[in-house]
Amino acid sequence: MAIIGGGVAGLSLAAELAELDGRLVERSGGLRPELRIVLLERENQFGYHSTGRSISALSESLGSPEQRALTRASRTILDALGAESGTPLLRARPVVWVADADHLGALNALLTANPALRGVDPAAAQTLCPVLRPEATARAAVERTAQDVDVDALQQQYRDRATAAGAVLRTAIGLESGTWDPGRSAWTLTTDRGELEAGRIVDAAGPWADAVAARLGVPVAGLTSYRRTVAIATAERVGPAWPLVVDVADRFYFRPERGGLLVSPADETPSPPTDAEARPQDVSVAMERVAAATTLQLSRARTSWAGLRTFAPDRNPIVGPDPQQDGFFWFAGLGGTGIQTAPALARLAAAQLLGEPYEVADLRPEALLPRAQAQ
Ligand SMILES: Cc1cc2nc3c(=O)[nH]c(=O)nc-3n(C[C@H](O)[C@H](O)[C@H](O)COP(=O)(O)OP(=O)(O)OC[C@H]3O[C@@H](n4cnc5c(N)ncnc54)[C@H](O)[C@@H]3O)c2cc1C
Repeated sequence: MAIIGGGVAGLSLAAELAELDGRLVERSGGLRPELRIVLLERENQFGYHSTGRSISALSESLGSPEQRALTRASRTILDALGAESGTPLLRARPVVWVADADHLGALNALLTANPALRGVDPAAAQTLCPVLRPEATARAAVERTAQDVDVDALQQQYRDRATAAGAVLRTAIGLESGTWDPGRSAWTLTTDRGELEAGRIVDAAGPWADAVAARLGVPVAGLTSYRRTVAIATAERVGPAWPLVVDVADRFYFRPERGGLLVSPADETPSPPTDAEARPQDVSVAMERVAAATTLQLSRARTSWAGLRTFAPDRNPIVGPDPQQDGFFWFAGLGGTGIQTAPALARLAAAQLLGEPYEVADLRPEALLPRAQAQ
């Protein structure tokens, strides 16, 4: 089995797949042949693209009902992985959702979608983040259960577990093309470092998932990538324990980071798959919007970056076998919630690939199948 892509999707799947396969081999008393798992990452390091550029938050209010169900399940997994390894992967950081007078409807929709949220007046929001300008916030909602995820530790843990369970993880090898031989039920894959054979391929190539499918002659899923910009602004008086503050109208978010303030214009600019870069005008917009919502003086951006968030047409992840091409499995379209949903998605995908049961509470896995996307 070849997994293409070494972001959080590919790494989490490699670990879950290799460990589940090990348990199945053991259960069979060694009668079941061990699965050979190879993960190919084109860049020189894992997590170089979307995964390495996220703001590493976990919020149970984000996304579709399916994404919220996957986030709840992933949170339990992340807690357990942290406890098992002795390195906690989650650290509490509340989210304060803010709405101006024109967007109270969006705030109410959020409160309905996540009963754990508590609606508060601007003064109560200010007790959590004292620099919020009361005239810019008509009402707010507090999500006490939100977390920061230690993405570096998470990736390292998945890499360690995958290799300990026998998976081979390789960087600096890009998939270029491949042909399916129905007689042998196997792919011959051509990479920039030579050929390899695989009975199945998992497309976990993030922004390039459609490009990978196209190179193998598989119909694309219709994914679109959008650029998102983040900067660390220099600011006085930033409290390290401030929450993540998110505008319900998707115009900005901010939180403390490394002695400065992490700011984003929450931009969503369509982009081809590429090594995304922050544009100065998007950084300026982020600083202006955050300055308008707060009493902070934001003097300059110390650093900035951008990354791609890749969505299927219905914005749900695509997980499952391709309906038209044997031997091709999708694990793509993780959108803006890939860090907080990958742990449960990887268990689901590993179970599907090995024909084992796995349930995520409140999730119909059919909603994620590639066929559902095409309809
Ligand atoms: C600014 C920003 C903020 C975000 N904040 C959050 C957040 O707070 N919480 C959250 O849950 N999510 C967040 N996300 C979303 C999250 O980062 C993504 O959903 C997730 O990282 C997607 O992971 P992936 O493995 O699918 O993609 P990627 O990390 O992009 O990995 C895909 C990999 O495939 C490789 N690849 C592509 N083509 C080939 C090929 N032909 N051969 C070999 N390898 C190939 C690429 O090099 C790449 O490394 C954010 C994203 C951005 C951009």
